[in-house]
Amino acid sequence: MSLPNFDVLVPDSIEETCSFLAEKQSDGVRILAGGTDVLVDLKQPVVQSTLYTQAAGGPDNSQILTTSDEHQSDGQIWAEKERNEPSFLVSLHKLKELKQIEILDDGRLRVGALTTARELQREPHLRESWGALAEGADALGSPLVRARGTLGGNICNARPAADMLVPSICLGADLQLQSNRGTRTVRADEFVTGPGRTIIQLDEFLTYITFPAPGSNSGSAYYKLAQRKALDISVVGVASSISLNQSGDVTDVRVTMGAVGPKPLLAQSVHGVLIGKIPTDELIDKAALGASLDATPIDDHRGTLEYRRQMVEVLTARTLRLAIQRAEVLR
Ligand SMILES: Cc1cc2nc3c(=O)[nH]c(=O)nc-3n(C[C@H](O)[C@H](O)[C@H](O)COP(=O)(O)OP(=O)(O)OC[C@H]3O[C@@H](n4cnc5c(N)ncnc54)[C@H](O)[C@@H]3O)c2cc1C
Repeated sequence: MSLPNFDVLVPDSIEETCSFLAEKQSDGVRILAGGTDVLVDLKQPVVQSTLYTQAAGGPDNSQILTTSDEHQSDGQIWAEKERNEPSFLVSLHKLKELKQIEILDDGRLRVGALTTARELQREPHLRESWGALAEGADALGSPLVRARGTLGGNICNARPAADMLVPSICLGADLQLQSNRGTRTVRADEFVTGPGRTIIQLDEFLTYITFPAPGSNSGSAYYKLAQRKALDISVVGVASSISLNQSGDVTDVRVTMGAVGPKPLLAQSVHGVLIGKIPTDELIDKAALGASLDATPIDDHRGTLEYRRQMVEVLTARTLRLAIQRAEVLR
C-alpha cells in the first residue's frame, strides 16, 4: 500500500521542533525518528486497533481489553481501527545533540532519544553497568532494524513487548519531555498507559532518557523469548535489576515483564520476597513464582496464557541469577 500524503518538516534545533509541534498539532503531526515503526504504521495505515466491549458502546466509552494490536472476534468484542494520516511528519534527523550517550558527573547515564539500538550495543560502559539496556538493544529486530531504530522511538511506540522499553522501566529511567511550554521529567513506568498509548501531549517530544547511576554492587539483565531468533516480537521479555550490600543482602530489586499485560509490568511481589535477604536459590524461585502471578498475559498466536506465565517464572529466575552474578563480580 502506498503512503498517504503528508509534508515532512525538518527542524534544525530542539527549539524549532517544539515550535513546529505547537503550530501543527491541530493539523495532525507525528514525530519521525528512525521510521521503523512510523513508516509501517503509515503504510497500513493503522496505528493500532483498540478493542472495545460492545457493552461499553464503542470508542467513547472505550476499555482496552488486550495486550495485542490484533483483532479478536469472539462476539463480545470488536476492533476499532484508529486511522493515522497525519498532515505533517516532523523528522528529527538533524538533531545531533539527541544522538549522544553520556555519563554525567553524578554517574547517571544520559541517552539522547535519537540514539539507535546499534549505538547502544557498541557503548562498552553501558554493557558493564546497565546490562539490561544493552541486552534490550541486542534483542531488537535485526541488524538493519537496530541500525535505524532508536531508543526514543521504542519507548514512544509504547508496545507491551518493546525490547528497550522493558529494560528502561526496570532500570528506573526518567524521560525528559520538551515543548514550547517547557520541560518536564516523567518516570518511564508512568509514561505508558496502554498498548501504543502514553501520557505525551501532541506538542511534546522525548529528548533524553536518563538512567540512575548503578550502585557499587548492582547488576541487571534482560532476556527475550521469541519464536525466532531475529525479526520477531517477544512471547515474553523479562528484565531484572538488583543491588546488594557488602554482606550480600538485597538492598533493591526490580523485575519488569514485557508482553504479559497491556503495558510492561513491574512485578510487585518480588520486592517483598528478596529485600533485606541473601538471594538464595529458594528465594529466587519464590520471587520468580510471584512474578508469574503478577503477570496478566493473554492467549494469542504467539503463546497461551499458561505458557506465558510459566515463561515469566523461568525468565525471572534466569535474569535475577544473571543480575546477581553481575552484582557479585563488582562486590
Ligand atoms: C522488521 C521490524 C522488526 C522489528 N523488531 C522489533 C523487535 O524485535 N523488538 C521491538 O521492540 N521492536 C521491534 N520493531 C519496532 C521498531 O523497530 C522499534 O520500536 C524501534 O525502536 C522504533 O524506533 P524508531 O526510531 O524507528 O521509531 P519511529 O518509527 O520513528 O517512531 C516510533 C513511534 O514513536 C514516536 N517517536 C519517535 N521518536 C520520538 C520522540 N523522540 N519523541 C516523541 N515521539 C517519538 C513516533 O511518532 C512513532 O509514534 C521492529 C520493526 C520492524 C519494522
